[in-house]
Amino acid sequence: MSQKSFSKTEITRENVRYLVYSLLTKDIKVLKPVVEVEGIYYPDIGNYFEVVDLLEELASEGYLKRGKFTRIILCPNCNSHLALSKYLCPNCGSFDVERIKLVMHVPCGHIDVLSTFKEKCPTCGEVIRSEDLELLGEIMECNSCKARFDEPAVKHYCLNCGIEFTHREAIYERIYEYEIVEQKFKELEESIVLNIVRSFFEERGFSVKEEAIAKGASGLNHVFSFLAIRENKGLYIDVKLADGDCSDIYVRSYAKYIDIRDVNAVKSVLLVLKGSGVKESYETEFMCITFNSVEELRDKLTKIYDNIVSDIRS
Ligand SMILES: [Zn+2]
Ligand SMILES: [Zn+2]
Ligand SMILES: [Zn+2]
Repeated sequence: MSQKSFSKTEITRENVRYLVYSLLTKDIKVLKPVVEVEGIYYPDIGNYFEVVDLLEELASEGYLKRGKFTRIILCPNCNSHLALSKYLCPNCGSFDVERIKLVMHVPCGHIDVLSTFKEKCPTCGEVIRSEDLELLGEIMECNSCKARFDEPAVKHYCLNCGIEFTHREAIYERIYEYEIVEQKFKELEESIVLNIVRSFFEERGFSVKEEAIAKGASGLNHVFSFLAIRENKGLYIDVKLADGDCSDIYVRSYAKYIDIRDVNAVKSVLLVLKGSGVKESYETEFMCITFNSVEELRDKLTKIYDNIVSDIRS
């Protein structure tokens, strides 16, 4: 998924969890909102308005932690963030207001707007020299009612639906960054990875049975994460997660394969490993793929799929 494209599938709780988990496996630990003319969104998660409730839910469950926030003005009618602002006279409401300079005639202390000091000072009558005028600041003046004021009133216009609204009517939204709570996602990791593997095979017409038991030549029963069967052919799948070296896990799965291959109708075993330190194998009855990110897992499942299909047919 690119930075800007949003997931086209329906955004569900599971979906958002999965998307957040995918980011974590790519070492992204903070969800940062992006505000652009085209919209507000969390990259690789989705449109702000579609996902914010689900992100808040994850935050309330401890999977995410609210971080810094920014605030934006939203149209109270259509939620658009594309609002123009205009200044107006707090007295008569006209938009025809001007910034004017306020100056003092130093010799006599008379204070007025710059335009009133033309040739002579209106108070003391002295000829105006520029070094005698001191700039005090700027104020605003209404061209309609001539009222002067320090700060104008502000009104907003929605570029999307065209309504005008005041600061009282505006939605002044807090848009949060969310930190991903890695520890909480670790608890979910196994079920997320199992789900990815299971749906990969189900989408290709396999019926997938969980915690499948296979009897070995030794008489022992071995448990695999899945048994995937299509047209009476299939394979056992072991899904294992390790943080570092996983040669132990590899050896245990391989031993199960050796024990079942001569006494079982289904002989092929696929080991799906999160971790490192083992050699992948794509072309034998005992297959093994390793991954670190969700993308890598999907890629490798796709890559090994043809071998699986030809292997279980032979
Ligand atoms: Zn006015
Ligand atoms: Zn004067
Ligand atoms: Zn609007």
